[in-house]
Amino acid sequence: SKCSTGGFFSKGKLQRYGSIELSPASGVLNYGQGLFEGLKAYRKENGSILLFRPMENASRMVQGAERMCMPSPTVEQFVEAVKLTVLANKRWVPPAGKGSLYIRPLLIGSGAVLGVAPAPEYTFLVYVSPVGNYFKGPLAPINLVVENDFHRATPGGTGGVKTIGNYAAVMKAQAAAKSKGYSDVLYLDSVHNKYLEEASSSNVFLVKGKTISTPSVKGTILPGITRKSIIEFARIQGFKVEERLIPVDELFAADEVFCTGTAVVVSPVGSITYLGKKISYCRESGGVGVVSRQLYSSLTNLQMGLTEDKLGWTVEL
Ligand code: PMP
Repeated sequence: SKCSTGGFFSKGKLQRYGSIELSPASGVLNYGQGLFEGLKAYRKENGSILLFRPMENASRMVQGAERMCMPSPTVEQFVEAVKLTVLANKRWVPPAGKGSLYIRPLLIGSGAVLGVAPAPEYTFLVYVSPVGNYFKGPLAPINLVVENDFHRATPGGTGGVKTIGNYAAVMKAQAAAKSKGYSDVLYLDSVHNKYLEEASSSNVFLVKGKTISTPSVKGTILPGITRKSIIEFARIQGFKVEERLIPVDELFAADEVFCTGTAVVVSPVGSITYLGKKISYCRESGGVGVVSRQLYSSLTNLQMGLTEDKLGWTVEL
């Protein structure tokens, strides 16, 4: 049942974290048939555990699997596997306010295949790890550099899905930027080398007055779940949100820039270097803009169960 969803995956089982056995000829090792997800579980003050929009991760995996010619677990199977894994690892969910449990669902072509073709068998697994902040601290401003030589995605490619190869393709640019002291890279589109796309593991937003802009989802950026949530929060809070093509030059005129992602949450951008020119943001407030701060609070208060979940985005375990 190649490229099909549902019915393919049998009921899984919990097993101790450890190595897994794979054929040297497996689809994932040879032809990159691998897809992952990332989400977090937070502990509430009352001890219960909250997942943030796990159904969104599940449907992104279903869509990505279709692109990668892989069968995928159903949304229900995905969410069930996540819940079971988190509950079995409850003691690793940090106390309220002290971090979170990062959850990594992984779908791989585990069957052997010699010529280029979809693997005959697939494995879906979930592992977890407690994490703290991705960058230096909550709301620690990051410094980005616009990448001019490498691209993350190309139209018709796989940039819009969370496949493992996308990350291998940008490691060189990311490592070079880090060695020069930048926190991350900001990618441009591969056709014009002009329009903003995203950072290595987060989406980007520009604030100008009461308008917030973010690159539109057209198959070359990952449709972030944090991105989608921040767009909804911003609209509720009275901002005008535009999803559109954003020429890199607009970085010079922005009041604030921030990145969003499961790992980075909402990270304010303190500076962006473009063609050797450093653009600084919100210098008077230590690189943290008021809008970034406000949206960070809205998101994290909901994720940590500090505010009432009127949107029904959290799943309590
Ligand atoms: N872009 C890329 C390339 C990513 O890897 C991620 C992390 N999944 C994101 C954006 C942000 O997506 P999300 O908000 O769903 O974590």
